[in-house]
Amino acid sequence: MELAHKIQLRPTAPQEAYFRQAAGCARFTRNWAVAHWTEDFEAGHAPTWSQLKKRFNAIKYEAFPWMKGVHRDAHAQPFANLGKTAKQFFSDMLAGKNVHKPQFKKKGQCLDSFYVANDKFVVKGARIQLPKIGWVDMTESLRFTGKILSATVSRTADRWFVSIQVDVPKGAAKRKRISHHVEGVDLGVKTAVVLSTGEGIDSPRPLKKALRRFRIRQRRLSRKLEAAKRKAKIEGEIPKGAKLSVSNNRRQDAAALARLHARIANIRSDFTHKLTTRLVRKNQAIGIEDLCVQGMIKNHRLALALSDVGFGEIRRQLEYKSVLYGTTVVMADRFFPSSKRCSCCGYILPELPLSIREWNCPQCGTNHDRDVNAAQNLKRLATCSIGFANEPSALPVANQTATSDTGAGVRARPANGGKVTPVRYEAGLQGASGQEQNAAHFCVHFG
Ligand SMILES: [Zn+2]
Repeated sequence: MELAHKIQLRPTAPQEAYFRQAAGCARFTRNWAVAHWTEDFEAGHAPTWSQLKKRFNAIKYEAFPWMKGVHRDAHAQPFANLGKTAKQFFSDMLAGKNVHKPQFKKKGQCLDSFYVANDKFVVKGARIQLPKIGWVDMTESLRFTGKILSATVSRTADRWFVSIQVDVPKGAAKRKRISHHVEGVDLGVKTAVVLSTGEGIDSPRPLKKALRRFRIRQRRLSRKLEAAKRKAKIEGEIPKGAKLSVSNNRRQDAAALARLHARIANIRSDFTHKLTTRLVRKNQAIGIEDLCVQGMIKNHRLALALSDVGFGEIRRQLEYKSVLYGTTVVMADRFFPSSKRCSCCGYILPELPLSIREWNCPQCGTNHDRDVNAAQNLKRLATCSIGFANEPSALPVANQTATSDTGAGVRARPANGGKVTPVRYEAGLQGASGQEQNAAHFCVHFG
């Protein structure tokens, strides 16, 4: 399986200068390709990426002699990337979706990166030999063994990284679980993650904490931008193509803001990595809600809290790490009534506003914490869908009886380690009492 290891580089000043040059070269090439593709597309015959590349190669060293200083991989890969974007564009167009033509990349507003093919670099210990510049120190050595596929050098704030793609043989990629529990995981706004054991894990919420500093830095930078605009005698919008002078102060402020951005991202990613590794390492199955994150981010008040926790990323990491540890991730779709259902008797409340954190079941009288109850429902779902009935702590015995009495639960399935299992819940079949739905509650396994 393909795994990537992203390692920080410690380039010397000339090496860093080369990185900037190569990244600029990749950006320039991409923009050249996008311009020609768009021109031809509007004239009615979109070229393929290999045709564009041929056209570019025929003229590049004559028209852009400065490209000679940069290894050719940096100005070859943008064509393949553009090919992918164009392919997506056409398939979206055929499917009748909203389409976006390939966009230009703007300096300072895109990811600075360039590509190196696998036969052009060598990794030895904590060093990497890149074309044109030789050995560059890395902060750690490559974690995976296997066939090296490619490398991408990129910049975040003032740091440079290399991401090395490795095709790791399946056996070598496997990790060992330390225990084999089943857990339900409820993602929330108040507490980032609540487990079915009742444990709540709060995220560091880096953005909220750093927001004050963030606003100060942003204000400083925009003041410098205003000053530059005044100097250039521009009022209102900056006209296209206009170049403002960049003062040293403005450059420094921009760098400080970029570092703060990177710091927030690092804190967030440290939290999600530790959390997701812990979950897949300890459990043979995890039940989790497949939140419609994009939809929820449209809700303004939830947006900051949600994107600060990074739910989408938690989900993505669970998906690929579950393969390494052979853990089943069971995704309940967003119609699954994880919060509204009583985890003891299966009763479903007709309504449960977000503000209510605790409720009593009108049928069996159990007092529920909203999030813990949801996590327990997700745990039950995970337990059922891996067809695992003997886990003593999965559900109290009485509840299992209640489950079969009301026809609740899901069809048992053999464990399918390492697979992400989306579970569909038929909301339409739900009756007023909430009991009828139980029979319609089933699992669908993909691939
Ligand atoms: Zn109940």
